[in-house]
Amino acid sequence: MKVKRAAKYGFCSGVRIADLKVKRFAATGQRGAILGQVVHNERVVEEMENLGVRTVEEISEMQEPTIIFSAHGVPPSYHDEAKSGGLQVLDTTCKFVYDIHRESKEALVAGDHLVFIGDPNHREVIGYTNDLDPERYHIVSTVAAANAVDWSRYERIKIFYQTTLNADDFNDVVAAIQQTAGKVERADTICYATKENQDAARVLARDPEIDVIVVIGGKKSANTKHLWEICREAKPSYLVQGSDDLDPEWFRAANVVGLTAGSSTPDYVIDEVEQRLVAL
Ligand code: SF4
Repeated sequence: MKVKRAAKYGFCSGVRIADLKVKRFAATGQRGAILGQVVHNERVVEEMENLGVRTVEEISEMQEPTIIFSAHGVPPSYHDEAKSGGLQVLDTTCKFVYDIHRESKEALVAGDHLVFIGDPNHREVIGYTNDLDPERYHIVSTVAAANAVDWSRYERIKIFYQTTLNADDFNDVVAAIQQTAGKVERADTICYATKENQDAARVLARDPEIDVIVVIGGKKSANTKHLWEICREAKPSYLVQGSDDLDPEWFRAANVVGLTAGSSTPDYVIDEVEQRLVAL
């Protein structure tokens, strides 16, 4: 069986830098814990634990002297909370996430009402909104949710996208807001890394030579799930976390398997999956 990788897949620059920062920190022998997963990938979490850096869900669970904030970022108040609790902070927030923090703050100062298109439970979105006055923003991701709001109350609206979304999928949501709102501006916040992986997945899915596609990534990774959705529209596609999840039955009639991976999937996991596929 032949394996064809997408032209672009796997770790983005933000995750690569976060991963490196934590590994360098661990190599110094200092003790720290990561608030939430450093990236949404269980193998990376396991690797970090083996390096002595565990994951905590709340700042109050901290027993180590250093708290590590992940690439998704945190609400600004978490920095204050950590510092007032006597903790050192290792911040691995992605530069592009910080751009949205900055731009949304500027929009608030300018008097805009903020709209975040994304998942209200995603840590990136929590980072943007947790500290805000609930009167100053909305989080929407469906047309129904957008239609349920009287946008005419707001003179100026600024829309931000969760970085890992495909903006084209939300044009209807934006149109629903624009119907009744005054001035609406959209911030260009979709991360290029996510888009490049998605574009490459579309090319892979259209490749006539490919019979089946394997998408590798963590269970909680939103961008991996998006890649899987793109692929399965065109071809039988399977989402796996690693080589152990591969079922030989999926490839019984396949000659060529396409391979792609979410932006939080480490290179060694992709290599393992490819080796297993070739062995099949
Ligand atoms: S997907 Fe983009 S925004 Fe998110 S961590 Fe990676 S580079 Fe940063």
